[in-house]
Amino acid sequence: VRARVMQVDHSPDVTYADIGGLDEQMQEVRETVEMPLDRPEMFGQVGINPPSGVLLHGPPGTGKTMLAKAVANQTDASFIKMAGSELVHKFIGEGAKLVRDLFEVARENEPAVIFIDEIDAIASKRTDSKTSGDAEVQRTMMQLLSEMDGFDERGEVRLIAATNRFDMLDEAILRPGRFDRLIEVPKPNNEGRELIFQIHTRDMNVADDVDFAELAELAGDASGADIKAVCTEAGMFAIRDDRTEIARDDFVDAWEKIQLESTDDTGNSL
Ligand code: ATP
Repeated sequence: VRARVMQVDHSPDVTYADIGGLDEQMQEVRETVEMPLDRPEMFGQVGINPPSGVLLHGPPGTGKTMLAKAVANQTDASFIKMAGSELVHKFIGEGAKLVRDLFEVARENEPAVIFIDEIDAIASKRTDSKTSGDAEVQRTMMQLLSEMDGFDERGEVRLIAATNRFDMLDEAILRPGRFDRLIEVPKPNNEGRELIFQIHTRDMNVADDVDFAELAELAGDASGADIKAVCTEAGMFAIRDDRTEIARDDFVDAWEKIQLESTDDTGNSL
């Protein structure tokens, strides 16, 4: 079970240079996660406990996972990822044990960054905690809280959690002393979108008529993940047309296609 839910990645390949438009967030993550991993002895010398972890919150596809991977890469830490939804839905009755295992695996792989995606799945406000499914989720959350509270003995292990549903989180997990920082990771602004277009086309054969500032303007409200999809799709348009260079119109068509697809998925436009 352990092997199937926990992905241990000893050298994640994302770097800070791959992330566009999140300078402030990057700075905060570096301060709270990178410093204690790089210079753990400082905290002992100063006589304070190192920060235990951060919570990233914001819409899907904005770079939360990337931030966690980049910090693990930068510090040569193992990256151990688990999704909250898998903890409670896939292995019924195993949630609390999996949380225990997760922190144990992290200790075995020190220095390590634990990334728990969709933390809302195990740490939501509950309206009715009497049903058995909820009791299981509750146990899983209690285990997580107790692991978080025991953090000062954990050596070089840091926790990064992420959620798209900040408003749903149980107060217990937000209590001071549990997460050191709550960091909002929003959709990119105009400038951020332009940067993200540049990042994702770095290795692409792009025509001279492509203006990323124009595309950034056009793709208002796109997330980083949407922009990545647009770039790949633009390449596909060129290939279908038997061209090796990607033109402005390929990007424009790709953006239209991505918008249509996301409308189909959710019933709403982006
Ligand atoms: P979710 O909440 O859905 O898990 P997330 O916020 O963790 O999403 P990521 O998995 O980090 O999002 O992003 C998905 C993909 O979108 C990345 O692999 C990357 O290609 C692209 N992407 C997202 N945000 C950015 C960004 N700020 N800069 C560059 N690429 C980005």
